[in-house]
Amino acid sequence: MPSIEHLCCQNCECPDAGRRGHGNLTFRGYSGKTRRIRMVYCRTCKARFSERKGTVLEQCRLPDAKALDVLKHLREGCGTRATGRLVGVDKNTVTRLVARAGAHARPLHEELVAFSPQYSRGPTR
Ligand SMILES: [Zn+2]
Repeated sequence: MPSIEHLCCQNCECPDAGRRGHGNLTFRGYSGKTRRIRMVYCRTCKARFSERKGTVLEQCRLPDAKALDVLKHLREGCGTRATGRLVGVDKNTVTRLVARAGAHARPLHEELVAFSPQYSRGPTR
């Protein structure tokens, strides 16, 4: 589970949208049948949203640990069917997570990596 400093306001009209560790967010209540997903409240814009909003796990019904297991198997090169069998989830669930994870990877890379090394094919002659 992420700590509050890892989250940011998901209301794109909020002046503090996208700012992490700014002190405007608090956990307030839970969502989901089993109440395992925390709700986040923004003091700046008064918005409430799930801690999963804007993440790979948005709209995902799997528990955090199981979703992470799916992603770990994929990272190690398992196919979607094999991953589904090993983790015990439907292959379509795996496919959905792959699509989300891929879409999140680029902006995260661009945020975390200051610059990418120049691609070089070696000396050209
Ligand atoms: Zn806000």
